[in-house]
Amino acid sequence: MEMPTVCAECGELFDLLDGRGGLTHRTSDFTICKSCYEKQYQEKQRVDTIRELLEKKENASSEIERLMNEITEMAEWRDEHRQNLNEYSMELKKLDYKGEKDDYHEELERYY
Ligand SMILES: [Zn+2]
Repeated sequence: MEMPTVCAECGELFDLLDGRGGLTHRTSDFTICKSCYEKQYQEKQRVDTIRELLEKKENASSEIERLMNEITEMAEWRDEHRQNLNEYSMELKKLDYKGEKDDYHEELERYY
């Protein structure tokens, strides 16, 4: 061992030439042994994956909320629309007595 160094993570001696910079906040200013570096690297990969998944979840939640708002708006529009249709329907019944039903039906077809 040319340059014995104490690992900032596990406390074991290792050759400084084999060491790497620590990846955690606690060890980032120190050199750690290769074994601890590999463990920290794997942990960091998992943490990064978890962060990505949480971000995707957050984006999905925002998209679901946006879609729910859109559905609500569409449902409100449909309800207003239904009211209009009911009014048309009432008009249609009145017109039917006058024999003008077909004309009115054509007019409705243009809109719906
Ligand atoms: Zn170590």
